[in-house]
Amino acid sequence: MIDLEPITQPPARTALPGLSPQELSEWLTANQEPAFRAKQILDWVWKKKVTSFDQMTNLSAALREKLAAAFRITALTHAKTQGSADTTRKFLFKLHDGRYIESVLIPANPALYGEKSDRRTLCVSSQVGCAYGCKFCASGLAGYTRNLDASEIAGQVLAAEQISGERVDNLVFMGMGEPMANFNNLMAAIALITGPETLHLGARHLTISTSGLAPQIRKLADHPQQIRLAISFHGATDEVRNRIMPVNKKYPVAELLEALAHWNSTKKQKLTLEYILIKGVNDDLEQATILARHARHISAKVNLIPYNTVEGLEWERPALSHCRAFQDVLKQAGVTATLRIEKGHDIDAACGQLRLKQETAEGII
Ligand code: SAH
Ligand code: SF4
Repeated sequence: MIDLEPITQPPARTALPGLSPQELSEWLTANQEPAFRAKQILDWVWKKKVTSFDQMTNLSAALREKLAAAFRITALTHAKTQGSADTTRKFLFKLHDGRYIESVLIPANPALYGEKSDRRTLCVSSQVGCAYGCKFCASGLAGYTRNLDASEIAGQVLAAEQISGERVDNLVFMGMGEPMANFNNLMAAIALITGPETLHLGARHLTISTSGLAPQIRKLADHPQQIRLAISFHGATDEVRNRIMPVNKKYPVAELLEALAHWNSTKKQKLTLEYILIKGVNDDLEQATILARHARHISAKVNLIPYNTVEGLEWERPALSHCRAFQDVLKQAGVTATLRIEKGHDIDAACGQLRLKQETAEGII
């Protein structure tokens, strides 16, 4: 909740990037300032990306003081950057309560966009930890701590642009957490990320990834913005999915597919089914045949990802030749299937890995 009380009340120290333009106008009015100042302040925060109130030179010193007393100017503190050989960079951010989250900045895939493309994708987190406990995932390992608020979600984009000096072109909600389980904050963050007065990134450049929360998929399908959706499928049958993704017991494959068919009825962009290939667990070629049937049924493309090893887990990726055989089954069934050779393998880029190391080192978990 954002505190809109005048500053005669104890200062809330809400993060400024969490306020919608309307909330900021309301706060200004409540604090005897003209509402048009909102546009100037939003410009400083979201367009010029300043990191101190003193840099807001077209505001009076008195207003700057009021703002500083009421708000933090950033939602996150940059704790560490890890770079990898392929120029993928991973940022570790400390939150106001001492917890950590991570975002990964990924350069354009030359195979998709051409050698000269300088497009960049940022992978953002939506929660501290994750309650869904998928058996293969570092984010699920330490359990769930809390939801991120809108300022902490949208603030990752701001911070990544501040640190790198580069513009983020695409956003994927594929970091730590289950974005659909944090629906209201997710939607508030998306309003900030796409809003013309704030970050102004096109909804088509946003992809939400979910482990398969069917009711929320339906809810997001009915939202007017043309956001993209990726589903962490990772198993073509209930038998395989139940073994590795507890969420499947609640929303089994058939129910998930129905929600995805509904998604198709309201959205233009193709769905993506993400499928991690884990040796001896979900890489049987029979799974590929069934997966192909599902993909065709909902006109989805498939993204195959050889498993990224996680410290403390015994899972392994299959041989590349086997991954290719799995891909061929899909292709022969007429499904578009890419085999993604994971970027950032050398910087713990799989979701939750860097944060897990940091919090373990600090004894938080
Ligand atoms: N909770 C959402 C959003 C996180 S996305 C979801 O599950 O979709 C993170 C993606 O990374 C998911 O597709 C997840 O399955 C995948 N992932 C998790 N651990 C991984 C690993 N060790 N190697 C490769 N991908 C992994
Ligand atoms: Fe959570 Fe997604 Fe990891 Fe599953 S894969 S534990 S839903 S972050």
